[in-house]
Amino acid sequence: MKNCVLIFIALIFTLNLKAQQTQTCGTPPIKSEWLKNYQANPDTYAKAGDTTLYVPVTVHITGTDAGTGYYPIEDIFRNFCQLNEDFEPLGIRFYIEGDLNYINNSAWYAHETFEAGTLMMELNKRPGTLNSFIVQGAAVGAGGYYNFVSDAVAMTMGSMNTPMGHIWTHELGHYFSLMHTFLGWESIVYNPNEPTPETVSGWFSPRPVERVDGSNCTVAADGFCDTPPDYLSEGGFDCSEDGFSVQLLKDPDSIFFRADGGNYMSYARDICNSYFSPEQQAAVRANLVNNRQDLLTNQIVIDTPVTASAIILEPTENETVVEAPTLEWMPVENANRYYFEISRLSNFSPSFRVREGIVSGTSTTVYGLDENINYHWRVRPFNTTYPCEGEFTTSSFMTGEGMFTDVQGVEVVNDLVLYPNIVSAGKTARLEVDLDEPVELQIYLIDAKGRKVSTLFRGKAQGNFLQDIQTTSLSTGLYWLAIQVEGVWVQRKMLIFD
Ligand SMILES: [Zn+2]
Repeated sequence: MKNCVLIFIALIFTLNLKAQQTQTCGTPPIKSEWLKNYQANPDTYAKAGDTTLYVPVTVHITGTDAGTGYYPIEDIFRNFCQLNEDFEPLGIRFYIEGDLNYINNSAWYAHETFEAGTLMMELNKRPGTLNSFIVQGAAVGAGGYYNFVSDAVAMTMGSMNTPMGHIWTHELGHYFSLMHTFLGWESIVYNPNEPTPETVSGWFSPRPVERVDGSNCTVAADGFCDTPPDYLSEGGFDCSEDGFSVQLLKDPDSIFFRADGGNYMSYARDICNSYFSPEQQAAVRANLVNNRQDLLTNQIVIDTPVTASAIILEPTENETVVEAPTLEWMPVENANRYYFEISRLSNFSPSFRVREGIVSGTSTTVYGLDENINYHWRVRPFNTTYPCEGEFTTSSFMTGEGMFTDVQGVEVVNDLVLYPNIVSAGKTARLEVDLDEPVELQIYLIDAKGRKVSTLFRGKAQGNFLQDIQTTSLSTGLYWLAIQVEGVWVQRKMLIFD
């Protein structure tokens, strides 16, 4: 049954969005039973007073099969901190739970259907957290949507790149039961030159058109009486400085009004949005407290932003490194994570970023860099409740000659071959090292982000040494084998595909 509904919705969404040619929200306009019950008796629902409620969020970052195209971490943080700012009046603070979850799958990265999005969510969501997926393209061309089957949200990088973007806030509004302020007008283009009808049937059954005098506010549109009439279902309408639409509308009584673009649940441009109404706020808290207790099991989080910066231990300014460098710094109070970045430029322009990542400890080893390059690196301590606070400390290093010497340079090695180096997922690759005499050998598997996935071998090797690399438990994408023979590093690229 659910599938039928979804196919139906996907179909009408496609028609709707083709007509609009604008990125909008793909959340199905179906009021949940929970919201219907709540709106019938809002005062009977507990809302936990004005206690700050902490909600764990899992951030899933999709990329292509080859492990490229990820949304940058600093951009995720910017959006996440905007989300927390937007929810501050509600007494809700989100924190990033666990590690960012990188998913390499081109079909999900740019998915066109709800079914594909549902599969992505079902196979990756972490229980007890609010699952948010960042994708390149979302179902039916939307900028984002709440998937009620999987109970998770997806957002496109394009929508998140909007200055002062509130897409995450909008989709989490849906997650916590809210509907669009123009509910009922989906796929209907409001026409100011025609008399406004008494009812609209955007999708599903006809709904009364909300009047300016508030006489039908409980049964029309979103059912909240403090969200005024709004008939504008086309993406991104313009507003004046007060947040209300530039366009003048008239209700069925021919009373003129402007739509409230200040509401996060409207389709006004992001820059217009600045609040949830008091009734929406109460509903969100009630939904969290009564319907989503599994998100509230951990209320002990670090609620103090990190203000200090980290002291760098190594490599220090302009140091030359001759093997995969380990970046190391001193621990910082209140920080439970560290963001590091390696760049070709000292201004850390995003287009010259070589590597970035988050670690919970105070060091990370970076594999896969090039030889004879001057790299700049920096580290910023933070805690997962305030990922935008904390100051960068900057340093640089030079990679030395012979850092990843080709095997020709190592006398005891006759041959070093990885085959196949493009491996079908689940198949086994093999590294063959032909050695003249016994040597100390180390073999590490490194992922596309330069993180060590596993130690494949460490010890003495001789003769025709064979090392199998099982790919069964590895996600698709680009990897390196970092191989150290007699103190010399060699690397080999390996691509795992679906
Ligand atoms: Zn929406």
